Amino acid sequence: MTETASTLRRLYPGSRLEDTFAWPIEKLDNFDSSFHVQEYLQQIIRVDCSNVEAIVELPESVDKQVWQYEHLRQVCLELGMLVVALEPECTKENCPEMKADGWLYLCAAHPSTQSCPAIDYIIHTLDGATILLNNTKYFPSRISVPEPSLKHFQSIARRLYRIFAHAYFHHREIYELFENDSSLYARFLLLSKTYRLVPPELVSIPDGNQEDQNENDDVGDEDHDDEVEDDDGNEQQQPKQHNDKNQTTALEDDDSRSEVTAIEDN
Ligand SMILES: [Zn+2]
Ligand SMILES: [Zn+2]
Repeated sequence: MTETASTLRRLYPGSRLEDTFAWPIEKLDNFDSSFHVQEYLQQIIRVDCSNVEAIVELPESVDKQVWQYEHLRQVCLELGMLVVALEPECTKENCPEMKADGWLYLCAAHPSTQSCPAIDYIIHTLDGATILLNNTKYFPSRISVPEPSLKHFQSIARRLYRIFAHAYFHHREIYELFENDSSLYARFLLLSKTYRLVPPELVSIPDGNQEDQNENDDVGDEDHDDEVEDDDGNEQQQPKQHNDKNQTTALEDDDSRSEVTAIEDN
């Protein structure tokens, strides 16, 4: 590949699949692009998407907020593939509501929150997250993130988590095929833990070494329900299990909700 072609790093119409992304591996500092962090992140994912620690590790020259931002954008992008995989099975008939691990989530992408079929909820949530992350009012640049916009990372991550959780608890086979291929949840989880994007008590998918537990494992749920934080607009409690203390989730962050809803309306 010529110097020029490697510098341009473009995908051209008519390229064969096996020729796509066939660019030389570059160090982060060698990327000559306004989107260098994204391009670098996508490069290391292509090299080995299961090398989760390396993918999440903050590169020296990158601002940690920008790193989270680019990861979240990437998770939204790749979750689109999970939606495609889910579509044949996660139908309105099979999953008329958005549930995961005994919780029912209401969708915030409407003038007032409402119950949507799981597949609609997933698509509405992904759309909302994508629109928010692309909103130049909150994220005007790819090289820094304004302080007031940082709060959106947590609300986006909590919502994205539910998509993984629905797939895991209701479409296990699809989830596992997708995860084996992409390690997307592993990357997302490590990112979320590293930057405290999703509170540990909301992490409902068991670790790999806990897979032999009951999938509706209630261990720790009393704490879980006590400590659930206020959320960002699209969930309500579903006391399926053994106590009703999870009503603490009912009060939510109306700011986030109205922002996302308003953006959706535009
Ligand atoms: Zn479903
Ligand atoms: Zn909806």
